[in-house]
Amino acid sequence: MFEGLKALANGMKTTLRMLAEPRDTVPWPEKKREVAPRYRGRHMLATDDDGHELCVGCGLCEAVCPAHAIRVVAAGAGEDRPVSWTERYAVDYEVDLIRCIFCGMCEEACPTNAVRLTPFMELAGYSRRDMVADKPALLGPAVRK
Ligand code: SF4
Ligand code: SF4
Repeated sequence: MFEGLKALANGMKTTLRMLAEPRDTVPWPEKKREVAPRYRGRHMLATDDDGHELCVGCGLCEAVCPAHAIRVVAAGAGEDRPVSWTERYAVDYEVDLIRCIFCGMCEEACPTNAVRLTPFMELAGYSRRDMVADKPALLGPAVRK
């Protein structure tokens, strides 16, 4: 019985000591956790200063992705090029954030620096479809659904 009380006292001592120590967790979402400068979160598709999409639909990111998480459908941009800065652009672009392992190889492979991994880390959804970032989402600011 004495041994049991001693173990209980030791347990309580540890509990009280931990109560006084600073927390490792943060009260998310009220408080955001800082991420490392090189953190790789959700992707974005960049545009130039005139609002033209940098993606030329070359498909290199899709080809290099080890998780097969990217789907690109390319098309000609037409004479007036309302969307892209060059003669081709991505009509459709999707990243499956469930498949993605955030390795950053798509970013490295992109010849126009169009696809970039952002620090956005609040990835959650109610369905599998919620976790597929489509082109409008990737062109806009990263937000929590
Ligand atoms: S970060 Fe890696 S796994 Fe994710 S889409 Fe890019 S290449 Fe694929
Ligand atoms: S994001 Fe870059 S690599 Fe991917 S299709 Fe567009 S231009 Fe090519």
